[in-house]
Amino acid sequence: MQKPHFYDLTYNHLVTLLESKELNPTGASKLFRWHYKFKKTEKCELELSKATQEFIYETFNFQLPEIVTAVESDDQTVKLLLKLSDGETVETVIIPFQNKYSICLSSQVGCAMKCSFCYTGTQGLKRHLNSHEIVSQIIVAWNWLLIHRSSSEGSSAIGQKTIKSIVFMGQGEPLHNFDQVKKSIEILLDQHGFSFGKERITISTAGYLPGLKRWLADDMPNVNIALSLHSPMAEKRNKLIPLNLRYPLEEVLEIIEQIPMQKKQFITFEYLLIDEFNDSSDDAHATAQLVKDKKTLMNLIPFNPIPGLTFKRSRDENVQNFKNILESYKIPSMIRTTKGDDILAACGQLKSKNLNA
Ligand code: SAH
Repeated sequence: MQKPHFYDLTYNHLVTLLESKELNPTGASKLFRWHYKFKKTEKCELELSKATQEFIYETFNFQLPEIVTAVESDDQTVKLLLKLSDGETVETVIIPFQNKYSICLSSQVGCAMKCSFCYTGTQGLKRHLNSHEIVSQIIVAWNWLLIHRSSSEGSSAIGQKTIKSIVFMGQGEPLHNFDQVKKSIEILLDQHGFSFGKERITISTAGYLPGLKRWLADDMPNVNIALSLHSPMAEKRNKLIPLNLRYPLEEVLEIIEQIPMQKKQFITFEYLLIDEFNDSSDDAHATAQLVKDKKTLMNLIPFNPIPGLTFKRSRDENVQNFKNILESYKIPSMIRTTKGDDILAACGQLKSKNLNA
């Protein structure tokens, strides 16, 4: 039988477990510090009793996904193809931002949402990731950075501060895998370990209403939320995100607006700009009308071409026109510069393989 994964344990769970074995519960903070704060993959060298050492390393599996390939793009974006223990693969993308990094995590192998513009969606859902498979993407990415990016910046540069943000914008619909995503977030936030700030983690959703309802009902830590909007018009949004037929935008927004937000937080709307489909002045005005009274940031994403699709990226002047119209309503927006599209690592270009198949 497979051992349970250490990276599936929340801090409180680990404390309770040590107590139940009559071991000193302070071992939990040392283990979290060692494996998450220091991101060490070998056995803990902080003072742990021999009994705790033995219990932990005999009971738990510390295996991390294996890096199959690491493809670096001209702009320094890195796409890691990771092999999971059952041979499935997912991708984690490391996106440079000045001298810091954003890590784009996958939450599922494949995706069930079938958005018409998204490469991951073409493969359907294979399975959900477990929380250990989500958390370990960061440890693997971190260690990759430590090996490959230390020399130019000095090894101390890969410290706690160099991963600026975590975004759940890789493969999968995070709210369709609510429990495991929530647990992974609890581990990422824990002050004994990674200690990420809530404002540095963003979950992006296509508008999966059952997951949004659970966010409200089930004590989800208030990390940032991003909604893939792509069109305020039902007819167009249905074509892009079939989920909109089942869970219409109005219902989705009604729930999102009830999610508690701290002062510095806002709802991010992602808007994919597709040439002659949703990038006209009319589209921009309708979008502005929808979001103008909300505390929001619009993230404009020029469509990244994917194999086999006829959709085209908006022309630069149309992207700028869209932004200008939003600005005329005083709606803050940014154009997401396409990172890594030369290596198919940009949004919506991720796809899995099963290496055992
Ligand atoms: N399922 C979630 C998170 C994964 S997709 C969601 O839908 O939000 C992350 C972001 O990438 C979404 O905004 C998605 O719409 C965008 N995306 C998907 N395919 C894309 C493509 N081909 N070009 C640009 N962005 C894309």
